[in-house]
Formats: sequence, C-alpha cells, structure tokens
Amino acid sequence: MEKTMLRAHTVKRRTIEFTQDAVPQLIPGHALVRVHHVALCGTDLHIWDDDYASELPLVQGHEFVGRIEAINFGTAAAADGLDIGTAVAVSPMVYCNECGPCQAGRFNVCESISCLGCYEDGALAEVVRVPISKLHVLPESMPPRLATLGEPGSIAMQAVNRGTPVEGETALVLGCGPIGLLATLFLVERGVKVIASDLSPARLELARAFGAVATLQAGNGPFPSAEQQLELDSWCQLSGPTLVIEATGVPASFENAVRLAAPTARIVQVGISTGTAALSMREVPFKELDIRGSRNSLNLIPAALEVLNRHQDLAYQLVTHGFEFEQLGEAFETMLDPTQNVGKIVINMPAGSPA
Ligand SMILES: [Zn+2]
Ligand SMILES: [Zn+2]
Repeated sequence: MEKTMLRAHTVKRRTIEFTQDAVPQLIPGHALVRVHHVALCGTDLHIWDDDYASELPLVQGHEFVGRIEAINFGTAAAADGLDIGTAVAVSPMVYCNECGPCQAGRFNVCESISCLGCYEDGALAEVVRVPISKLHVLPESMPPRLATLGEPGSIAMQAVNRGTPVEGETALVLGCGPIGLLATLFLVERGVKVIASDLSPARLELARAFGAVATLQAGNGPFPSAEQQLELDSWCQLSGPTLVIEATGVPASFENAVRLAAPTARIVQVGISTGTAALSMREVPFKELDIRGSRNSLNLIPAALEVLNRHQDLAYQLVTHGFEFEQLGEAFETMLDPTQNVGKIVINMPAGSPA
C-alpha cells in the first residue's frame, strides 16, 4: 500500500485544503478502510461553516462506505463476513462504554460521545482506520453509493423507535429533509399512516413517494390553515396525531408539535437547534404529552440498510447530487443554494465508482 493519501481538511470557515498525509498504521482490533463514498448532511454544513461545537481544522465526513483494505482482529474473534475487500458501512459514533448512559445501554447519549468526522478526523480521506466493531457488511445487492444513507437512516430509525409507533395510528412528520423522509419510510413500514409537512413543494412530493398519505405545505400563514386542519382531522382518530416526529430543528416547529399533538401523544424531537422554543405549560400536562429526545442511534445502521436495500428506488431519489472528491468545496456551496433542491450529496472518493 502507498504510504501517503489525500485528505481534505476543513481548515477554517468555508475553506478546504487538500494535503498528502500518512496512511494510518493498522493496530489490533482495527481495519483500514479505503473510502469509496461519503454523504454530506446538515451537520457537515454547520462544521464547514464553523458554526458547530467542534474545533477546526478537522477532516470531516461521517456518513461513509468503503472496502476493507487491511484488518487485524487482535484478540477479537474473526467476525462473520469481514475480510479484505468486503464492502462496509461504518458507524462513526465513538462512546466510552463506562459512563452511566453507556452502562444502561444508552450509549448513543454517552457522556463523552464523539463522532468521526464531527469531533475527530473522519472519512474525507482516501483511507481511514476504524475499530472492527464499527464495521457493517453491506447487503449484497446494495450499490455502495446508496449505502451512505445507512448512517442518516440510523438517525431516522432511532427517532421512529423512540416514538414507539403503533400499527394503524397516524403520525405527523414535521420536516421532509432526509431525516424526515427516511422516518416517513420507516413509519410506513410499521403500518403507520404518515402526514408530512414542509415548506417545499418538491420535498412534499418526495414525502408522498416515501409513503406519506397526505402532505401539508407550511408557509407564511397560520399552520395548519383551516383547510389543512380538516385534512389533518380526517386522518386522525383522536383530536390530532398520536405521534409527532419533529425533524426540522426550528423552535416554532417544536411549538407546533406540542400544539397539534393529540392528548396522550408522543412527540419525538430529532431536529437540533441552538434556539429556544416557547412551550405551553398547559398543553404538556393537560394532554399528558410524552416529549422524547432522539440522538444518534443504538447501532441501527444495519437495520436501516436492510430497509433501504428493499427500497433502492427511493434511495436513488434521495441522492440528488454527486461530486468528485476534488470538488468538495463546490459540493458545500451547492448545499447552501436553495434553488438546487438538495436531498443528499454524495462525494465519490477516488476509489469509488460513480454508479
Ligand atoms: Zn450526518
Ligand atoms: Zn459512555
């Protein structure tokens, strides 16, 4: 193997620098993964914009797939299917296994949680070293480029799981970005009727493709409008949806969730904001609402990939843009452009085929 490799460093706000860096050394319990594809998300955009808790410079990239180039099982037993050349998705989450949440099995909210590509160097590099426990073999028939959706899929599936969906109930999904759309798909898979809302008609059209029975376009006026309220009511047995997934991270949308939820409903807040919502101190107790946060996932990449593999047509619709590694800066600029209707952007690394 070559001794150096190309890496993209976000050195300061909106500035990428490519350098030839040393290929990491293989150590016991780890694999070297040659990165094929990296998807970008809103978190990446915040990091690139230096509007995130992590320090720059940083090698970004946390949603990625590649092939195992070298592996050293160390004291661990050789794991099924992991070998040189195996196509893998990688869980970027790093947790301590020792703190209270980890001990309780809630390692997704580990007190010293980290994430490759968010708080430590990630996958916008030709080769990365990762612990063997973070590797997930891709379903055989799944194009690697689509499998980059496994990581955001795991976030959406965690939000759905936190909502403990019940077959036959009606859920409202607020926000039809990738997380809202994937949550819609996973809810529909569990027999839930989904009503989706967003500002963008294009995203609402996608939400219907992902299985939403109805869509509500939010705008400048009151939300929902009188007409939309009738539509919402017609899908809900109780006076409102019994499950709400808030996937915009906009404080006013969380307020809408509390207002629109049926008595006894569960609200899952997966969208993140540094803002503050004004919540009714009346509605939460009067309706006995369960408000639940959702963060990262409990190792759900394999489960998300299983569903996405059966819905490759939808996965293809979600991946709207592709860029070569050298065009990384252009890819970020494109995410900023609202006229581009960006779903997911996938970066094709030098080893990855564009297919
Ligand atoms: Zn992400
Ligand atoms: Zn921990």
